[in-house]
Amino acid sequence: MTKQKFGAGIWHFATYLDRYATDGYGEPRSVLDAIALAGKVRDLSVVDINYPYFGGSFSNEDIKKALDKESLGVIGITPEIYTREFSKGAFTNPDPGVRRRAHDLITEACDAVRYFNASYVKLWPGQDGWDYPFQVDHGVVWKNSMDGVGQLASENPDLKFVIEYKPREPRVHMNYDSVARTLLGIEKIGLPNIGILLDFGHAIYGGESAADSAQLAIDYGRLFGMDVNDNYRSWDDDLVAGSLHPIELFEFFYVLKKNNWEGVWNLDQFPFREDSVETADHAIDFLKSIEKALEDLDIEALSEAQSKHDAIGALKIAQKALFKNI
Ligand code: FE
Ligand code: FE
Repeated sequence: MTKQKFGAGIWHFATYLDRYATDGYGEPRSVLDAIALAGKVRDLSVVDINYPYFGGSFSNEDIKKALDKESLGVIGITPEIYTREFSKGAFTNPDPGVRRRAHDLITEACDAVRYFNASYVKLWPGQDGWDYPFQVDHGVVWKNSMDGVGQLASENPDLKFVIEYKPREPRVHMNYDSVARTLLGIEKIGLPNIGILLDFGHAIYGGESAADSAQLAIDYGRLFGMDVNDNYRSWDDDLVAGSLHPIELFEFFYVLKKNNWEGVWNLDQFPFREDSVETADHAIDFLKSIEKALEDLDIEALSEAQSKHDAIGALKIAQKALFKNI
């Protein structure tokens, strides 16, 4: 196995507003400030960057220069199809003009993916969904969700598109809300260059086992990327990976290893009140413990226990490997 690469969403190093601290939790930062901070993380190789670039007017070249200075690459570009203009949806907006603008913005993001030689265009359709009963025609919005992604994937066959599903927020209910529904949509579209970005936190607060979700996406050949973080299971808290559900996170990585899934382990955390560099370092240190624990895991004994559905036997093996490495 090659050396494990770690990544992070560049927003990890930004500052945030919410509906209470409307003045923000820190002074505003530009994407260049965020890249400089990302460069201080001990073992970060790549970042996922929002498009358009925040905090100023920057060209791809400006971004590249800043990234090169920190020896960082780009794993994905995330077009911002969830801002005010798209508050009633990007792919599913009732206004065809807004749907077209979403398409055009994502098409620009495709050029950025080519420029940076990134792995994927990340689609996070956070505003595509509904809030109230009777608000939408469910058949129409689901069809538009699939048509919008399908059109982009067929127009850009050289690129990979990932859909990051999430149950809710900002929309009370998102269309791409679960692993199963997202896979159904992707399979119905039927193109090879659309996959899932599995966010561990989105899966678990949606009531899924992230390990099971990963296996399902892998079985369909659709696991193209992943994000890690943690939450209390009732909201997308985006806390530090491993802080709350270490054993489930370990099982998730075990499933990836078992299937020889090789890709970046990417942080999607929001350190509202914490130091962003320290938070990223802490998460990566924990992920490295998981990496070591995977090497220590007695896979033969685990398979034997699993073949009998021996819960306590399997847990003992997993816990022994994990907790001795933390
Ligand atoms: Fe995420
Ligand atoms: Fe999230």
